[in-house]
Amino acid sequence: MTQPSRRTFMFQVVATSVALGASRAQAQSKLEESDPQAIALGYRQDTTKVDAKKYPAHVVAQDCATCQLFQGKPKDPSGACPLFAGKTVAAAGWCSAWTKKTG
Ligand code: SF4
Repeated sequence: MTQPSRRTFMFQVVATSVALGASRAQAQSKLEESDPQAIALGYRQDTTKVDAKKYPAHVVAQDCATCQLFQGKPKDPSGACPLFAGKTVAAAGWCSAWTKKTG
């Protein structure tokens, strides 16, 4: 068995990095409101568009950015949410599992 050349090794490193980057991008696709789980939890990408009749306890000040489960940074326009694995939710979004961020 021959040793791989440095060039072959570097090509494999780059190819692996590109593949990992692509899978991460795929793993972090945007959550659509039409997603069955999003529908089940009343997710909207814009908290001002939440159905007030269906969710009377909702107030506009509640959004993903102020939710305990939001994993984005404070200024991020979107971030991960453990309720929607592999997807990102809008910072301005909301769902019925909203829980006030503490600390
Ligand atoms: Fe947004 Fe929180 Fe619902 Fe996740 S649980 S979608 S962060 S409101």
